[in-house]
Amino acid sequence: MASNWRALNALSGATDARPRAGAAIKADCYGLGVDTCLPALRDAGARRFFVAHWSEVGAALRHIAPDQLAVLHGPVRGEDVAYAVSTGVIPVINSLDQARRWTAGGGGGGGGTCHLMIDTGINRLGIAPADLSDPAIAALNVDIVMSHLASADEDSAVNAQQLRLFRDCLPAVPHRMASLANSAGIALGPDYAFDLTRPGLALYGGIPRPELSGSIAQTAYLDAAIIQTRMLQPGDAVGYNGEFTAQKPMRVGTVSLGYADGFLRGRGPSGGNNPALFHGQTALPLLGKVSMDMVVVDLNDAPELGEGDWLSVPYNLPDAAQHCALSQYELLTVLGRRMLL
Ligand SMILES: *Cc1c(COP(=O)(O)O)cnc(C)c1O
Repeated sequence: MASNWRALNALSGATDARPRAGAAIKADCYGLGVDTCLPALRDAGARRFFVAHWSEVGAALRHIAPDQLAVLHGPVRGEDVAYAVSTGVIPVINSLDQARRWTAGGGGGGGGTCHLMIDTGINRLGIAPADLSDPAIAALNVDIVMSHLASADEDSAVNAQQLRLFRDCLPAVPHRMASLANSAGIALGPDYAFDLTRPGLALYGGIPRPELSGSIAQTAYLDAAIIQTRMLQPGDAVGYNGEFTAQKPMRVGTVSLGYADGFLRGRGPSGGNNPALFHGQTALPLLGKVSMDMVVVDLNDAPELGEGDWLSVPYNLPDAAQHCALSQYELLTVLGRRMLL
């Protein structure tokens, strides 16, 4: 993860000690655990961190200073303003209402540092460019002006359009830094880097564009133990609703891995992709439905395996995403808490 951050920082144009890449640490560092990931990213050199929810602030502040942390969803409620002021974390202002609410209550009498999100075409969160001349925006003390790319993982004309619109907006708002690119945006080249990038997925081993494939390493590995073995006779059915029926005598293993761990049913036989767990290079096909806590595998090709032996779950994100109906983002964020070491 540290080497992924350093690679993304260099691709973001860092030439001196000043970091050019921040880090999106929302959703518990994309499911991998903030207490594991955040110290690694901080020690690698990241200084700007982004969460989505106010509820994510407490965990992050165990590892970083409040003024290094931004909350992307912004001060939607009056109590969010009070919480930002009391903790010292920085809200991202996404609307004129949020701007007024922050100025009315931010930093005791207004004027507290904030970031500003401009919507350049994703139509999700952010101020419309036409609203930047509003007095509510002029009243803000903006540290980072940012926008978010909608299709950076594709070769889409939308990327250049958003870039142009973002550039056109910058003179309208006094700010210290400008920030546009997520992981895929970094791969679009130096025009998209501005002062600070905000990678998330690629820090954790996701590869949203082929340009990043040489620089980004897998960070998440998933292993699960065989907790019982048994012999099936012809006609024996496996798991809920008996979706697999043995045609011949066969030895199978029950593995401690299920949908509560993020191994969703779509990664099992119902996903239709000949799915398997692995012992080294040996593929052990999954049999029957994925349960909450268990799956069953065919041990025919690994007669030496028994109770207590470990199998690996494919977690190379670009490959795994191709073999199931989940995106690389989802493969990470669905991981169950009890799988984290
Ligand atoms: C999640 C998020 C990011 C990180 O995006 P990745 O595609 O995971 O790199 C950056 N900026 C904003 C505003 C986000 O919401």
